[in-house]
Amino acid sequence: MSTVMTWQTESTSSDATEHLAETLGNQLRGGEVIELVSDLGGGKTTFVRGLARGMGSTDNVASPSFTISRVYKAGKLELRHFDFYRLSEAGLLEHELDELMGDKDVVVVVEWADIIQHVLPPDHIRIVIKTTGDDSRQLTFEYPEKLAYLMEGLC
Ligand code: ADP
Ligand code: MG
Repeated sequence: MSTVMTWQTESTSSDATEHLAETLGNQLRGGEVIELVSDLGGGKTTFVRGLARGMGSTDNVASPSFTISRVYKAGKLELRHFDFYRLSEAGLLEHELDELMGDKDVVVVVEWADIIQHVLPPDHIRIVIKTTGDDSRQLTFEYPEKLAYLMEGLC
């Protein structure tokens, strides 16, 4: 087990959350897995919007709630956005995820990852967003040391 590092910050607007995510997205090299945890409306999809922009993607980011997964192109990298809200099993998507998470040209970001926890690699970054007011959020980043490069420019 590698040591889990944590960093916490506050955001007071959805723009601020997007900017934070953009900074992180800019550090992505491919092969990373990001888990986003919050209640509904916490800002997970908002965070993904910033991530995609930080990766250099101009694709439109939207909630994949009804489609489960979306793809955004970012140069030679691809951001795969999954959302398992209210699903009780991932079915075949589990295998797809497994393959994608081993692909060095793909970054995987997952909302509501509870049902696929066992598929997530131990070395992933977990971002927990807590709603503390209408426009305020507390964001906690949990990451293994080998992913510390992602936090450059943040902490
Ligand atoms: P989730 O994907 O977690 O359900 P969304 O990103 O879809 O959440 O929605 C978050 C909502 O909260 C948006 O309407 C956004 O504008 C609003 N919001 C207000 N303040 C913030 C903030 N500081 N960070 C992120 N979203 C915020
Ligand atoms: Mg969402």
